[in-house]
Amino acid sequence: LAAGEYGPEQPGRVIAHFGRTLDVGPEGEGDAVRCHLRANLEGLVTGDRVIWRAARDGSGVVVARAERDNVLERPDARGQLKPVAANIDQILIVFAVEPAPHANLIDRYLVAAEATGIAPVLVLNKIDLLPEAGGELRELLGRYEALGYPVVATTTARADGLTALLARLDGRTSVFVGQSGVGKSSLIDRLLPDEELRIGALSKDSRKGTHTTTTARLYRLPASDGGELIDSPGIREFGLVHLDEQQVTEGFIEFRDHLGRCRFRDCRHRHEPGCALLAAVERGEIHPERFASYRRIVDTLDES
Ligand code: GDP
Ligand code: ZN
Repeated sequence: LAAGEYGPEQPGRVIAHFGRTLDVGPEGEGDAVRCHLRANLEGLVTGDRVIWRAARDGSGVVVARAERDNVLERPDARGQLKPVAANIDQILIVFAVEPAPHANLIDRYLVAAEATGIAPVLVLNKIDLLPEAGGELRELLGRYEALGYPVVATTTARADGLTALLARLDGRTSVFVGQSGVGKSSLIDRLLPDEELRIGALSKDSRKGTHTTTTARLYRLPASDGGELIDSPGIREFGLVHLDEQQVTEGFIEFRDHLGRCRFRDCRHRHEPGCALLAAVERGEIHPERFASYRRIVDTLDES
């Protein structure tokens, strides 16, 4: 390549971004390349699929963005929702044997995940602390499995404690969310044991003049088969924000069969006669605790 010339267009994925500078990873193996943005491109986020071209000096230029499958959004300082990561296959909602999870909290995370269109997976960590019987917790998890949600049990206290999780991570792009103290950092430390990897697999050339970032980063998981993780402090705090009542109602997946069958089109499923949801609870087709959870979530929307 002569100075000022660019190589052929090639596909890549945004691994991290720092304003108008991006690190782009090639499809498959290979080091990331520090790229700048062509002038007419804005608002790229980690996980975006892009077309880029290599420059002579080892850097590159991003020339196009592919359509996104989905985005994860977070409110900025002014409360405006901003995309922080794109093209995620699953949201791993981590909770733990201790502190014991509340069903309502799990439901809140599930509703928030459903609103993004990204598949949720429940991860029960610290199973080393699970009492022999573990009756209540098992019953709770069984309820979610019956709804079709995958449940994966993990422990960072044993060498083989992540086997089931690794199988779930294979070939997918994942994010971890959940309350503080459930073990997200411990799990991620085990999945990305190599400090270098966590800093990012940048080639030496591109690492010169390193920028630091608190925005999301994409990591290739060495122990999985093509699994990738997008992580940032903000993503880990993902939760129930800026949802409206309809999103909450639709976020309870077992309601979907019954919605639209209420006698009144504007039924709010409280005391209305002919409410299909209330009838389904009555018939045992909707678990009463899930319905109570739904009410609680909608009521907190009313307050805010
Ligand atoms: P985070 O806030 O979700 O990132 O949670 P941390 O990874 O900081 O973990 C919180 C605490 O739980 C720490 O004291 C960890 O050592 C502990 N912890 C994490 N995973 C496990 C586990 O599988 N079993 C047990 N017993 N403790 C764990
Ligand atoms: Zn109704």
